[in-house]
Amino acid sequence: MTLFPFENSYASLPERFYARLPPSRVSKPELIKINLDLAVDLGLNPDKLTSEFAVEVLAGNRVPDNSEPIALAYAGHQFGGWVPSLGDGRALLLGELRNKAGRLCDLQLKGSGPTPFSRNGDGRAWLGPVLREYIVSEAIHFLGIPSTRTLSAVSTGEKVFREQTYPGGILTRVARSHIRVGTFQYFYAREDYEALKLLTDYLIERNYPELKDSENHLLALLEKIVAGQAKLIAKWMSVGFIHGVMNTDNTSLSCETIDFGPCAFMDRYMATKVFSSIDLNGRYAYSNQPIIAHWNLAQFATTLIPLLPMDEEQAVKILTQAINKFPALYLDYWISIFGQKLGLQNPANEDFEFISEFLKIMEEAQADFTLSFRVLSTIPADDLTLTHFEPFANSPELILEWIPTWTARLGREKESEQNRLRLMQRVNPAYIPRNHQIEKAIVEGVDGKFERFNTMVEILKTPYTHQPGYEEFEKTPDEDEVVAKTFCGT
Ligand code: AMP
Ligand code: MG
Repeated sequence: MTLFPFENSYASLPERFYARLPPSRVSKPELIKINLDLAVDLGLNPDKLTSEFAVEVLAGNRVPDNSEPIALAYAGHQFGGWVPSLGDGRALLLGELRNKAGRLCDLQLKGSGPTPFSRNGDGRAWLGPVLREYIVSEAIHFLGIPSTRTLSAVSTGEKVFREQTYPGGILTRVARSHIRVGTFQYFYAREDYEALKLLTDYLIERNYPELKDSENHLLALLEKIVAGQAKLIAKWMSVGFIHGVMNTDNTSLSCETIDFGPCAFMDRYMATKVFSSIDLNGRYAYSNQPIIAHWNLAQFATTLIPLLPMDEEQAVKILTQAINKFPALYLDYWISIFGQKLGLQNPANEDFEFISEFLKIMEEAQADFTLSFRVLSTIPADDLTLTHFEPFANSPELILEWIPTWTARLGREKESEQNRLRLMQRVNPAYIPRNHQIEKAIVEGVDGKFERFNTMVEILKTPYTHQPGYEEFEKTPDEDEVVAKTFCGT
């Protein structure tokens, strides 16, 4: 049997949806890591995936017989500015594989050479962004948040120039689909309504088959995506994740986390936190993420106007109603998740103030987001003392002073303390991919040492469980280790 049993459903859409081309060759491909569990779920034979043939495929040096490589066309709003043509400038879709659940998944090479969409880029990636995406995408998945995943990382033996030279790498990304808000915008801007219709049908068939028979499937699709994005962003917020480039071309309509550029998890909590070196106005700051997601959905809804069987005014009215469900939906998810993080099993709207107050105190205390919640999940409330908060807060007394407010609210819960702690540990991770550890893993990786990278990937598979011996990866950064800025790396 063929090693990669690809289907090519996107490549059977009309030619204007993509550009056909093979990946560019690299000189010396070597496997850094392969995700065997994911491979098995995709129906791949794990024993064959480290073979020379497989590595050549994952490096883009060989195209399997049944693969029809394509670079996908899309447009997008970047930092609010309209760009009519973006597209896969350094990526190629090799084809789709059916996973154990019977759903199609895209297999895409990232860093596989220039395409007609590359503009001034070289179509390549260096090892830094490759290792970062591997660690972070897999970590997000295992935190229980929808995400594209990583099947493999290879080094290419080539040099990539980014202000200085770095070793090149290629990542294989697995996605439920690569359709973005920007894919719809691409055709809408060209007034290609026939393509928009085909794309809608494809998206429903592929990602929302349950909507096929629904009476008004366009509106139903929009509502699904509004809810999916609301839940996704609430989940990001609950682990302190800052995406960093929430452009419409980086907003997946299968509602997965996609495109790991300057993304980062917060250490110390700060509502307006920004890491990305290019986000000068804080457009994609932590607290702005739900507002931006809502805006991105409005851009998506706009592209549906010509498809609705009614005049424009009526269409806008209906679509606006659907979009404007986002804030309330988001708030519901947010209260539910953050309530659980504080041990409330059925948090109500009134708990919004209570949760917000805790976040405010955490910010004033300059406390670590992850560890603040984790300590509340591991130590019985009455045993909490200053020493528990001191390792990760500058003003630990502020948190301690809040504890009686918390225990008063917990008094209205039914769970035993033991149960509460157990349930809280399931939503408050001990491990997140901390920036300073990622940076170290990259520096070491560039040096050919992948031990830290491998350890991080392994630990982050069970982020809610304390793993003895790996305390280093739970800890906040020392002052000289703090990562202040992150970069796209493209
Ligand atoms: P991103 O900010 O990573 O989402 O990328 C935005 C756009 O820039 C997409 O169209 C990418 O394909 C393109 N791009 C990013 N890096 C490169 C590169 N090294 N070469 C060519 N195109 C790139
Ligand atoms: Mg992108």
